[in-house]
Amino acid sequence: MVFRKKEKVQIKTPEQIELMRIAGAVVGQTLQTLERAVVPGVTTGQLDQIARECIYGAGATPSFLGYYGFPAVICTSVNAEVVHGIPGDKVIEDGDLISIDCGAIVDGWHGDAAISVIAGDSGSNEFLKLSDVTRKSLFAGIDAAVAGNTIGDIGAAIESEIRSHGNYGIVEDYVGHGIGTEMHMYPPVPNYGKSGSGLELKVGMVLAIEPMVTIGSPVVQVLDDDWTVVTSDGNWASHWEHSVAITASGPQILTLP
Ligand code: MG
Ligand code: MG
Repeated sequence: MVFRKKEKVQIKTPEQIELMRIAGAVVGQTLQTLERAVVPGVTTGQLDQIARECIYGAGATPSFLGYYGFPAVICTSVNAEVVHGIPGDKVIEDGDLISIDCGAIVDGWHGDAAISVIAGDSGSNEFLKLSDVTRKSLFAGIDAAVAGNTIGDIGAAIESEIRSHGNYGIVEDYVGHGIGTEMHMYPPVPNYGKSGSGLELKVGMVLAIEPMVTIGSPVVQVLDDDWTVVTSDGNWASHWEHSVAITASGPQILTLP
């Protein structure tokens, strides 16, 4: 994603946060439907079609379709794919780990969230734990999204949660972001960092927090399709994301069903 120089953080009113919650609910509902649809034998293209029906059926517009030419409604990243996988003919097999990233727009406001799902019931404990650690680190980051804290506090919370579970890789080439009237806005929200560093968090900011965690090295590369990000060492990865508002009463997740 590209951040323009001198960009300011977009501060939302409580009313605007409620509008973002509507867009976020479409995303949350779509991901809940997709989670149930991840079964061995389904193709990533079929999942994309389900997402398309969910989002348009709710009167929303998909954010990803056509974004810098992206050809689908969701990103489906399987096993060693980290993010930005393109849905298509790929068949999900028992034990696969699929990360699904979804964005939707309602009345000009965006929601953005991602889940990781293990297909079927022969998933190995190693990959169940990878997804669980990634999800826990997301919630550690959300807990740190409090006015008066900093962007570095979010990254530090995510990083320390991941480190407490073992020797995982934290992807550095892709990070979370501000979100509002555009999907990707200032500021970047890294999944690592130093407590107390960076921009101070203020009431009315909305951030997409999205740890990407690997088994092994955090080094990634982009495939020849110019989209799919994979681990360079072939180890599997997980991705979880929520759009989160910083409010006077603490962090509020906007991308719930
Ligand atoms: Mg996303
Ligand atoms: Mg995002």
